[in-house]
Amino acid sequence: MVSRSVQQEVIVRRLPDLLRAVYEGRLRVPSSDQPPWDDKRRLKLLEAIYRGLPVGSLTVLRTTVELDYRHTLGTVPLREQPGPGQGSAGDYLVDGIELVTTLFEALGPAFWRNDGARGHRPLAPAEARLAFDVQTRTFQNRRSDETWRVTEYALENLFDAERQHGFAKSLRQFSDGERMANRLAHLVDAFFDFNLPVITIASDDVEAVQSALAIRLVPASLPREHQLTTTCWYCDTCAQRIEQPRDGWVEWLVRREGTQWIGRGLRLVHHQPASPLPQGCQYDDQQEFTRDRSTLRDLPLEDFLGPDGLTRLLMLLDQYELPRAEVIEMINRLHVPGYERARFHIPDAVAAGVIDLNLPEGFYRQRQIANALEWADREGRKP
Ligand SMILES: [Zn+2]
Repeated sequence: MVSRSVQQEVIVRRLPDLLRAVYEGRLRVPSSDQPPWDDKRRLKLLEAIYRGLPVGSLTVLRTTVELDYRHTLGTVPLREQPGPGQGSAGDYLVDGIELVTTLFEALGPAFWRNDGARGHRPLAPAEARLAFDVQTRTFQNRRSDETWRVTEYALENLFDAERQHGFAKSLRQFSDGERMANRLAHLVDAFFDFNLPVITIASDDVEAVQSALAIRLVPASLPREHQLTTTCWYCDTCAQRIEQPRDGWVEWLVRREGTQWIGRGLRLVHHQPASPLPQGCQYDDQQEFTRDRSTLRDLPLEDFLGPDGLTRLLMLLDQYELPRAEVIEMINRLHVPGYERARFHIPDAVAAGVIDLNLPEGFYRQRQIANALEWADREGRKP
């Protein structure tokens, strides 16, 4: 499914099915930029589920764009689905990450234990576990070194029928054991039958999805790859890095022919004080004048950055003074995040089959740039 539009569907999913999808790697959980919930909020969530109160909805992004996601939640290593190869979509949780993480950390170990292929290996012990006290009907957060009451049931055993029966049996030795066993059964039912509305947004246009999420004030946990930035540039004369905007210089040459100005040689170089070359990296204006009577136009790199810098470049494009391709390339370099470095690697990444170009020549999506950069890093390529 490759879609440039954004489609959405809303379905209701049972909590165990949802957590199973997380365990099996069918629903991927990205790292969140939000702080994890504190104990108080966790306990409140469990209480809400126990009482059948709504706890909000989840948003899932279905996309062929490959995003970062977590391979372990709590102490549980998640299963890997075969990677979303070309054209096949993966589901990523983008809203409700803390909620699902909290629930999975509490309830998830049962999936591991019941997984015949893997469950014979014990999980690392958790620092704290959530429990339900069938006597007081309250949830507790228990550190591993705390003593548990005999009426406390670890939530990580909630989806484990065998342990649940064992615990119910042990309760019946108490005078009001039958009542407590009923409460345990009620707890299990409440979690088993708990429903969560899930909004699935299907799109490969990450920017559109990000905008859609921003409307709901969701801090979009979208992938690092798509938050590319350009933090340094490469000099067209000496090929060395231009570390900061004030070290850069944009220059080009113009000459008059009849009533027309004709430009050439738009480039980004080191400003004289930052140049590693003794003669500097900028044009020698006398030499260029001798060559074809061109005069030098130049401005600091800083003047071409930011929104006003983009406007300046667009004006340059509009004046027809310079070849369009040169101005467009400079706009790409200065305003398309990640392109400045990726441009060195895109042709080889295409040849290696790492990226597929599907826009007109000279234009790239952020995903393509990210993939080219990732590949270059993997291969140890410079710059
Ligand atoms: Zn230079």
